[in-house]
Amino acid sequence: MSKESYIGGDYIETTGGSNETFAKGKIINNSLEGNFSQNGNRNGIYSGINREAPSISSNVALKRFLVHFRRPSSYQGEYGFDWLREEYFIPMVTVTNDNNGNHINAPTALCKNVASLKQEYLSGVPNNIVPYGIRYYPAWLSIFPATTTKEFAHGFTMHKAGVDLDLQFDELDTIISDGTEIILESTNRFLKVIPEKISVAEVIKARKQSRNLNGKVINYYRLNKKVNIKCSGGALSDYTEIKVFAKLNEEKVEVGKLMVYKNDVIPKAEIVVVNVITGANKAQLKDDYQHLFKRQSFNQALIRAEVKVDTEFDINSLPANDRDVIAFKQNMSGSNSEFIKNTIGKLYDKFGKFKTAEGINGNQNKRTYLFLTSLSAGNVLGSCSLDSNRNWGNFYIVYNAGLKDGHTIMHECGHSLSLPHVFQEGSRARHTFYHGYTDNYMDYTWQAGVFRNGQLYSSGPNIYKGKMFSFFKWQWDIMRSDRSLIFNY
Ligand SMILES: [Zn+2]
Repeated sequence: MSKESYIGGDYIETTGGSNETFAKGKIINNSLEGNFSQNGNRNGIYSGINREAPSISSNVALKRFLVHFRRPSSYQGEYGFDWLREEYFIPMVTVTNDNNGNHINAPTALCKNVASLKQEYLSGVPNNIVPYGIRYYPAWLSIFPATTTKEFAHGFTMHKAGVDLDLQFDELDTIISDGTEIILESTNRFLKVIPEKISVAEVIKARKQSRNLNGKVINYYRLNKKVNIKCSGGALSDYTEIKVFAKLNEEKVEVGKLMVYKNDVIPKAEIVVVNVITGANKAQLKDDYQHLFKRQSFNQALIRAEVKVDTEFDINSLPANDRDVIAFKQNMSGSNSEFIKNTIGKLYDKFGKFKTAEGINGNQNKRTYLFLTSLSAGNVLGSCSLDSNRNWGNFYIVYNAGLKDGHTIMHECGHSLSLPHVFQEGSRARHTFYHGYTDNYMDYTWQAGVFRNGQLYSSGPNIYKGKMFSFFKWQWDIMRSDRSLIFNY
């Protein structure tokens, strides 16, 4: 697909301006009248939860529950995992202000286009299900195939031991120890799931919990890291299902599903790290940034992102009579992020050791350039270039304030791989969320507050700050279409 364009809005990362704190976003614990229904299916689907358990007749019926795959709480971006979070489509979280600064201060669904977001999680599913009349939205997993060269040449050992996921059992009826079995079935021989069977007795040994979705209470059990999913022996050439059945005697119902992203095409992203030297102090990136590239970010989109070149670009060694060099030296200390970024790009295209014939922002360039500088750009941490069509470019810069900030280093690279912010408005955004409420790399670490004097103020920190390791499934698709990726290797 075509690249997302930058249209208006703000493409620099700020530390959030002044912090005008008023109501902080929080999960409300209840009330607000209203029914949510999922796609018009059986409104009040959970209404049976608090009634008495039906008496068991001799004709024993399967108790109704749904099973969801979920990420363990220890998740740090090691693999791709995405699902339709309930707070994205049910008004559960208080949003202080919309993305333009207008006052809301009420529980609000965090995604602004719920219907099309829901569709994302159904698209590509070979067999969608509606157990007990409830539309089921599967979670999505992406893992590398662990293969020999003969089996598949572009495998990767990263998920060789498989990934451990939680299983969540949402009650529709009260689950009892009645001999029901939960059966997990992979639809592809390269995709392995362990265990293949769980007894309901084991489920109810876990602590029963409940959660409140804007007035609807759901009782559930969560089995932590209960299931291991692995891909080996070959790659998945299609989106693949792991189906979950509940079975009691002759009755067998499909009550859950995990979708596994196809992994037979593994593009490479080559990163060129350029340390721009302007004075005595050399910029130094966060120690583990290579690990972040490879194992905590773009791996989720099954992109092998690796630092291929680590180089320096010494401004002092450039021709002193060059116009752009003179202008840069004169103005580089002025904290103007746009000037610093654009001029460094221009200088590198002229004098850089790893420059390319058509310029690093050209369509043929198959690398992403990360410039780091000890120059300050006020409270701007980093910013990404744009190409001549105002699409996201192939290089980005991390300023002094962002050098130790892993979120900035990955966030800006996400832009250079075509991703807009999750709060990007307008037709070129695939989906739009409220600013500062998700754990996504492409969100900001602060919530949008009021807009005043040409500036958006913060209403408080993003509650996921420091743990924003997610890319959404539909962002995997966008990044994998970026022009700078290498598919033939
Ligand atoms: Zn950004």
